[in-house]
Amino acid sequence: MTAQVETALRGPEAYALAHRVIDSMQQASVWPTPLNYELWLHYVSDPDSPLSREMQRLLAGDTPFTEATAEMLAAEFLPRGRLSEEIRDVGAVLNRELAAVAEAIDNARQTQAAYGETLTSASEKMQGAEGTTDLSAIVSTLSSATRRVQHHTSTLEKRLESSNREVLRLREHLEQVRRDAMTDALTNLANRKTFDEQLARLCEEAETDGKGLTLALVDIDHFKRFNDTWGHQTGDQVLRYVASVLGRIARDPRVAARYGGEEFAVIFPGETRGTVEAALNAIREEIASRSLRRRSTNDDLGAVTISVGFAERHVGETALSVLERADAALYVSKRSGRNCVTDAESMAQAAA
Ligand code: C2E
Repeated sequence: MTAQVETALRGPEAYALAHRVIDSMQQASVWPTPLNYELWLHYVSDPDSPLSREMQRLLAGDTPFTEATAEMLAAEFLPRGRLSEEIRDVGAVLNRELAAVAEAIDNARQTQAAYGETLTSASEKMQGAEGTTDLSAIVSTLSSATRRVQHHTSTLEKRLESSNREVLRLREHLEQVRRDAMTDALTNLANRKTFDEQLARLCEEAETDGKGLTLALVDIDHFKRFNDTWGHQTGDQVLRYVASVLGRIARDPRVAARYGGEEFAVIFPGETRGTVEAALNAIREEIASRSLRRRSTNDDLGAVTISVGFAERHVGETALSVLERADAALYVSKRSGRNCVTDAESMAQAAA
């Protein structure tokens, strides 16, 4: 949560703010779920934040604001709070484990020290010992001291084993949290934040290695109409379907991401226009030829189509510029009747 929102929540206008948040949610026709409330709280109290600007863009557009949209925004703009909570929890468990291990080590150290003293004293006593009774008493003392050491050593070993297991569990948990923070919950593709980072990194690598990079933007045609006709749940299934097709072609090092509502992006590192265009046309045809069914009623939904724009990166070009050219090519696909693929380069050549 930003400092501005934190202050607003505890300031004199806090209740007025809560009313404005609810009014604004009502105007946008969204349910006052906890997640929507959190998003709208930012939207109303900090209108210039990147989250609020993205919400303004989405609310002004045609795409309905679904639970999936809310989750996507949360994953992209609110992950730090959640991540830091998880990290705090993991930190607390680790602290407890470390304290328990330190205590077990301390106990074992004290027992070892006491054992050393017992040995020294036994050795002194043996020098002055007379008869088997004295010796037997010394041996008995030594053997119970040895048992105590064995007991503490075994306790320490068990403690270390259990800590080891706990640390492994925490590591897996953190890995899962890290993956969740990078992934779009509905489609399981990379989320927008991950996409932005990957595109910047891969553009830098392409510049250093002198290799090509091509970026494609994919948008589902008439998605709003589809949602209005069949409902948001079926709309979400369509998003999952298109994502699954893109995910299948985008094996590492390619990166497929959900870029926004019904828009996706695919990065093709090291690849040039020719091969990418063929791959994009293949998925466009595959999607257009598949007839979908509504799960709840088995109604025939017909096929959905996608429009695609792509741009091959020029030497020295920034990630933002490649993105803008791919977006302009996508716009041309939409204007040319949809269900087609447009190369930004061919647009530039046509314009020259
Ligand atoms: P999902 O429902 O979790 O399905 C995952 C995968 O299981 C599908 O991947 C497909 O390989 C298989 N599968 C599930 N249900 C059926 C079925 O009734 N018949 C056949 N032959 N295979 C089935 P796929 O095709 O890539 O789809 C990915 C996701 O896209 C699905 O996830 C679902 O959310 C959505 N989807 C795909 N086709 C349809 C459809 O016709 N109607 C609806 N409502 N959603 C669909």
